[in-house]
Amino acid sequence: MKILISNDDGYLAPGLISLVSAMSTIAEVVVVAPENNCSGASNALTLSRPLSVSCAGNGFYFINGTPSDCVHIALTGMLDFRPDLIISGINQGQNMGDDTLYSGTVAAATEGYLFGIPAIAFSQEHKGWKYIEDAARFALDMVKSKVAGLTTPYLLNVNIPNCPYDEIKGIRATRLGRRHPSEPVIKSQNPRGETIYWIGPSGSAKDAEDGTDFYAVAQGFVSVTPLQIDLTNFQQMEQLKKGLL
Ligand code: MN
Repeated sequence: MKILISNDDGYLAPGLISLVSAMSTIAEVVVVAPENNCSGASNALTLSRPLSVSCAGNGFYFINGTPSDCVHIALTGMLDFRPDLIISGINQGQNMGDDTLYSGTVAAATEGYLFGIPAIAFSQEHKGWKYIEDAARFALDMVKSKVAGLTTPYLLNVNIPNCPYDEIKGIRATRLGRRHPSEPVIKSQNPRGETIYWIGPSGSAKDAEDGTDFYAVAQGFVSVTPLQIDLTNFQQMEQLKKGLL
């Protein structure tokens, strides 16, 4: 098996290194990851400038672009083979509910899925990399056996609690929850007296009931949500059709 691994925290991130160590035990692994942290980059592609591929001392390739750039370049001209699986992560911090729209981690996996390759995005619930080796071990379990039976290609969003491997309660198939709107932007001044803004934190969970990703992880389970790309609101499509007549 050949696995392409990327992330959005950058090619030096501990979550990436742990994931590569785990997957290398069962597969041929190639890493193509962003040079810099691209958390929140969503599915952005860099169209305004050319991109460079560099190789780090450990063999990881890194690109001065976004997570989507990395997977896109790897698949469309850089690699001389088609990966059997694309894995992204392990992200520093959860990607649940509405986060999935902004996440560069999910986007890297999505880019592979758009090319018809099965893809999995892994994130850890809390930042700080605590129990990252345990999360990587669980990710390896999933890749080895626990997604059997899914039609391919699939796009899975996986969130793992920060706890020892043996304390993970199990795995739950979930739907995305919802968050409240983001906190307000933080307004400040730079040293030259000009107004600057920091994007505020994401909103707290609004829909976190049983069955959601938020609920599963809060209960100590690994959450697995199968994602799709079609954003069409079919219910409103019917309303719109009637209204347009
Ligand atoms: Mn990130």
